[in-house]
Amino acid sequence: KKIKKYYGTGPSLFHPHARILRAVDEVDLAIYPHETVGLVGESGCGKSTLARLMMHLEPVSGGTMEYLGRDITRITDRDLFLFRRQVQMIFQDAWASLNPRQRIGDMIREPLENYRLTGKKLLSARVEELLELVGLEKAHLSRYPHELSGGERQRVTIARALAVEPRILICDEATANLDVSIQAQMVNLLITLQQRLGLSYLFISHDLALVKHLSDRIAVMYLGKIVEMLDSSALVERARHPYTQSLLAAVLPIAGEEPLRSLPVLKGEAFYDAAAAQGCGFCPRCSQAGDLCWKMTPRLWEMEAGHFVACHLIQA
Ligand code: SF4
Ligand code: MG
Repeated sequence: KKIKKYYGTGPSLFHPHARILRAVDEVDLAIYPHETVGLVGESGCGKSTLARLMMHLEPVSGGTMEYLGRDITRITDRDLFLFRRQVQMIFQDAWASLNPRQRIGDMIREPLENYRLTGKKLLSARVEELLELVGLEKAHLSRYPHELSGGERQRVTIARALAVEPRILICDEATANLDVSIQAQMVNLLITLQQRLGLSYLFISHDLALVKHLSDRIAVMYLGKIVEMLDSSALVERARHPYTQSLLAAVLPIAGEEPLRSLPVLKGEAFYDAAAAQGCGFCPRCSQAGDLCWKMTPRLWEMEAGHFVACHLIQA
């Protein structure tokens, strides 16, 4: 099921000069310059919808989004055009987001022309520069998507996204369909690009180990809500939400860290339970659910600096 409602709360908790993009359900999800925020959760938990709301690919039905201190919840077409220069997105399925009848060179040239970013004379040079940036070669310019490998196609979508010099890149399961070795290459490419271009990422994945590897901060989503948010470095030691803990139990041991074997591994998929509609969405799968859990939705609460949890067990 799709979550379409996000409700804002109160003033921003964050530094007013930070680059902020918010799409919220009882919490501000802010993305700072040069930062990677990982958004993790099972498929269908609302991660992609959240990203689509941020990109204005779907209308927001409540709440607010801000970019650089400006409310962008509702924006004009003109402003949206400009906003899309700042925030770009790449998807899991590069194949579906590329026009099969368009040559790679033309694909990358298109945004440069739409935004009039480069004079005619410099267009070809800029296209080649972008190809080089993502590890492709001049020979790829005249090829069509079907002539490329999956990894190469994903590089093309990255080059095209970077053509407009965005500040934020949203990666929605961008490495999910690739072989493990290709996936590692893409992850390394994303890290290199961040260092070279000072990008911020919202890295969306169901793969907690991968998210932990890439992210500075991690937001855990369950049925449309962020249930826990904390520094990536604190994840293994400090994560408190039963859902986060079960995700951890499923992936541990992460290299070099103690496995938390006592944690139950979750089975089955996330599902809505009408009985839990009033309470915590995780009730039907939570081994620690008590009476209150079924009656009242836990609020996302800052239990320690920078560490937010929504669970009745943790609230005082
Ligand atoms: Fe489990 Fe209750 Fe916490 Fe929800 S609020 S995660 S049901 S203990
Ligand atoms: Mg998705």
